[in-house]
Amino acid sequence: MNLEALRASDAAHHLHPFSDNKALGEKGTRILTRGEGVYVWDQDGNRLLDAFAGLWCVNIGYGRRELGEAARRQMDELAYYNSFFGCTTEPAVKLSAKLAELAPGDLDTVFFTNSGSEANDTILRLVRHFWAVQGRPEKFHFIGRHNGYHGSTVAGASLGGMAGMHKQGGLPIPGIHHINQPYWFGEGGEMSPEEFGLARARELEAKILELGPERVAAFIAEPLQGAAGVFIPPSTYWPEINRICRQYDVLLVADEVICGFGRTGQWFGSQTFGIEPDLMPIAKGLTSGYIPLGGVLMNQRVAGVLREQGGELAHGYTYSGHPVCCAVALENLRILQEERIVERCREDTGPYLAQRWTQLAEHPLVGEARICGMVGALELVPNKPSRTFFEDRGRVGGLCRDIALSNGLILRATWDAMLLSPPLVISRGEIDELIEKTWRTLDQTAAALR
Ligand code: PLP
Repeated sequence: MNLEALRASDAAHHLHPFSDNKALGEKGTRILTRGEGVYVWDQDGNRLLDAFAGLWCVNIGYGRRELGEAARRQMDELAYYNSFFGCTTEPAVKLSAKLAELAPGDLDTVFFTNSGSEANDTILRLVRHFWAVQGRPEKFHFIGRHNGYHGSTVAGASLGGMAGMHKQGGLPIPGIHHINQPYWFGEGGEMSPEEFGLARARELEAKILELGPERVAAFIAEPLQGAAGVFIPPSTYWPEINRICRQYDVLLVADEVICGFGRTGQWFGSQTFGIEPDLMPIAKGLTSGYIPLGGVLMNQRVAGVLREQGGELAHGYTYSGHPVCCAVALENLRILQEERIVERCREDTGPYLAQRWTQLAEHPLVGEARICGMVGALELVPNKPSRTFFEDRGRVGGLCRDIALSNGLILRATWDAMLLSPPLVISRGEIDELIEKTWRTLDQTAAALR
């Protein structure tokens, strides 16, 4: 099929997620054809530096044939079997043990899903079950955060705090509440980041007391808020959240779907920020996006109750623990470990990226350059010293994203924040290219606004 025919067929038959499908039909979709390392190629043969790793997920970079070979071997051996009714497969057994080895604290048990959203649906059900079987069914309510993102299924979108998502389909479902986010740049006012971090953490305490601690099952949050705009919490935030959750016996869920598997320079964001979670949804970097797989890691307290008192677990997916996905994940984790990719990010390329990325704060359009390991953001602002936003929020971010693309660079825009999340294998030379292209993009965006 030629390009025009592909686009026409796509417009006629494919409804795209998180897209204005009418506008897309008129503009035509971008068709990606190939990937290698940190680069992807589009239908016109343009080479693009993918500074967003697909959707925060291609941690080991594109084109690693070993993953395809692992899938092929497993498909030839046993293409499918499930983990229902007391069955399993060797890759699922091995991956569970590997995750138990990598996870922080005593999180040593996993329930497999296909995605991060399903992981969060699973958490809603397992946590309510956890309390109910201990004779506390009223401990049912979840607290999340405004602008948190926990996926797009009914429970995932409800736990998340994206107003636009809540508007579609009558969400959130009952029993889910939201507190404010620790977004100092946008909402911190005159407070120092540390004061603000404490104030926002204490909103959790206030909400627990308002609902009654005996009714609150869990608090869910991303270690750093990704989709909202890469909000890196002040250092005071997470220690206070740990304290509050322990004091009121509220389970703490750290959504590691983005942060897990090296993104912040440690294996998990919980290690970077000193979070003590009871449960962690994982996905994305688990397979570097080569094949869909997610899961819920849980600690011995939660797993123990579910095993000993939970009875038959009335929950599961046809593809929970799919052997091909687990084999690919094992190969991905082998590469991450043997090539010391996470360590390299923490000790070498991450600090180098941080040094170069923060230089972008000198650009007149940039109000703040945030970075943590291999994830960051630039806040584009009309008036640098004032921490105010453009009136028509999102327009400048969209413009900047399109200009970046014309410069061979993929960045994501959330409102007017430009988000960065490259493959973890990005080299120093590629970081230089990324910074040079970003600076040029900022210049061109500023010129277009004049
Ligand atoms: N949780 C977080 C923090 C995410 O960023 C995402 C996706 O971006 C999800 C959950 C949902 O994962 P999925 O898209 O695999 O369902």
